[in-house]
Amino acid sequence: MSYKAGVCVLCGTGCAHFLRTDGERVTGVAPSLGHPVSEGKLCHRGWRSHRTEDRERRITAPLLRDREGVLRPASSYDEAISGLLERVAELRKQGIVPGILAPASLSNEDGYLLGKLARTVLGARVFIEGLEPGYLESLEALHEILGVRGAIGRFEELDRCACLLVLENELARVSPILEGKVRRAAKRGARVVYVSGIPELADELRRLPEASSVAIVFVAEEFGRERETVRAIAQLAQRTGKMGRDGSGLFPLAATPGNQQGLVDMGLRERFAGTVPVLALGALWTPSMEQAEVIFPIAKSIEAEASFTASDRRVQLSPAKVRPPAGVLPAWRLCAEIARKAGQGWSFEQASGVFDELAREVPGYSGLSHATLARGFGAHWQHTALREGQTP
Ligand code: SF4
Repeated sequence: MSYKAGVCVLCGTGCAHFLRTDGERVTGVAPSLGHPVSEGKLCHRGWRSHRTEDRERRITAPLLRDREGVLRPASSYDEAISGLLERVAELRKQGIVPGILAPASLSNEDGYLLGKLARTVLGARVFIEGLEPGYLESLEALHEILGVRGAIGRFEELDRCACLLVLENELARVSPILEGKVRRAAKRGARVVYVSGIPELADELRRLPEASSVAIVFVAEEFGRERETVRAIAQLAQRTGKMGRDGSGLFPLAATPGNQQGLVDMGLRERFAGTVPVLALGALWTPSMEQAEVIFPIAKSIEAEASFTASDRRVQLSPAKVRPPAGVLPAWRLCAEIARKAGQGWSFEQASGVFDELAREVPGYSGLSHATLARGFGAHWQHTALREGQTP
């Protein structure tokens, strides 16, 4: 029995945990004491995060649709990859852009290499099943107004802010961990106000010109459905002139499981909306896969070393806890195999090598590596749109 460090990805808070494993199965979970956000706690979902075995839905071998239109197990990965490349070529000859369906649980390394495969090898579009519409819209609105497709500040600002505004009380449902920070802020004397919408938020901010720092938190699932609403929140935050200062920040929180922030960072921003995919990737079977021409199994997040990005841009490394089923690869490695079969000289052998390339290519990730993420509790990707005490 051993405990291995990891990251809970059931919401965007990014709490750290230890999973107890016998090498084959995960048998328990414990919180990580020193983590600056979760501080030795997990919420009720986090405590159950190891109970995710779903053997009936697990995919363990590639499936290929035959000429009669029936999905059948492929005789080998080689046959399934050849079949995929043939179908992609046929679609492109007909002027159809092939679609790839992938789950929101992909790691940063998986998402980066899948995006590269789709763009540079297959000429395909990637659709993410489970990408949260409210979070996606929130990040686009923040990008339009503040120039950053992510939170301003770190969740630790909630421990230092003089004034904390929470849009509606959904926070307690989505992240009891962040709600705990809000309660502690009130105890240490910060002004904490729950507001129900934009007019109330504007009123509160008008009353607080003298506050040295202001943090605003909202659950994107609820407020991000209308991009206009988040634009208004971002404009109000910007007018305080405090964004970027110590103790200040603007925090949209992803409520839906998965690597929501990381996949948006990797450029995978299209939600699945019923397009027939030529290729579907997944660890677990979903009804949306049914129409795909080729289906590949991939490793679960606990079965491969990989990084994930929380809603405050903290990038954290999560080592493999257990082995995947025989023959099942992490999505990034599968993408590299498909690219090689298509004649590309991709030479990725380790997830760290994929991360090194994405750190060169993805804005904000420059300077990060698996080695830097392994020290402490990860690192935040950087943005330059806001400088301390300035509005962009
Ligand atoms: S708050 Fe979110 S990240 Fe933290 S333990 Fe709960 S579900 Fe997991």
